[in-house]
Amino acid sequence: MPRRLLAATESPVVTIRNAAATAKITVTKLRGNVSVLEGSGGNIAVLIGGDGKLLVDAGIPGTRPRITEALAGLSNDPVKHLINTHWHFDHTDGNEWLHSIGAEITAHENTRKHLSETTRVEDWNFTFPPAPPGALPTKVLTGDETLHVNGTTLALKCYPPAHTDSDISLEFTDADILHVTDTFWNGYYPFIDYSTGGSIDGMIHAAEANVARVTDKTIVIPGHGPIGNKSQLTEFRDMLVAVREKVAALKKQGKSRDEVVTAKPTANYDAKWGGFVINGEFFTKLVYKGAG
Ligand SMILES: [Zn+2]
Repeated sequence: MPRRLLAATESPVVTIRNAAATAKITVTKLRGNVSVLEGSGGNIAVLIGGDGKLLVDAGIPGTRPRITEALAGLSNDPVKHLINTHWHFDHTDGNEWLHSIGAEITAHENTRKHLSETTRVEDWNFTFPPAPPGALPTKVLTGDETLHVNGTTLALKCYPPAHTDSDISLEFTDADILHVTDTFWNGYYPFIDYSTGGSIDGMIHAAEANVARVTDKTIVIPGHGPIGNKSQLTEFRDMLVAVREKVAALKKQGKSRDEVVTAKPTANYDAKWGGFVINGEFFTKLVYKGAG
């Protein structure tokens, strides 16, 4: 994936969708019949068992053959349940095909809302048309909910607006695994979607809440990046707070967005966090929008 997507004329949405066609899928077994598929958009968690497979997020359809193969390698159970952690394309583009093979789709009510209508994401330079009817969630969450599937307990919690206004976390309580979706990009600057309710302060609150919920034994599934733990979650939280502070201080001096970018407030962080879709300049602009 190109490092400096902002410099490219193509929307990152198009780049990521195209990359999915040739993406490899990596399967990692975690604990308690929970695995993760990495490589097609956001990380996909899979819980296998007699009630049918439960998937957390749907990936991108270009990878369907490799996702199908990976799922078959885990068990023979059909896919029966799909939960979207938020409305973004790299977590929901696969909804339609997964629904067509029998998955019931559950999501935050705002995921259904954004997928139902034309949605412009300015910072991606992309306008999403309404999703096809088969891709829409059939069960919506208006608050926290606990599910009992495949002999285990899943706790779904709605975040206050953070990365978007439709983010939910999912805890496999028996296995002590917490899926925190795009409120955590393990090792990368995150995207923050201001067009649908996201903000840097919301991201920091979510990161604080995530850190408070886990122990050193908890397996943490991020929206993007490798499987993580409490110390990585804490490091991510600290990075968000530090960059926000630097950008807010410059903004307070009356500096424009471009002047703040030129001052390179992320210079000490770019080597560690800037290696994926969001580089230091892009992240500075996202933080500037909400800091102050
Ligand atoms: Zn996202």
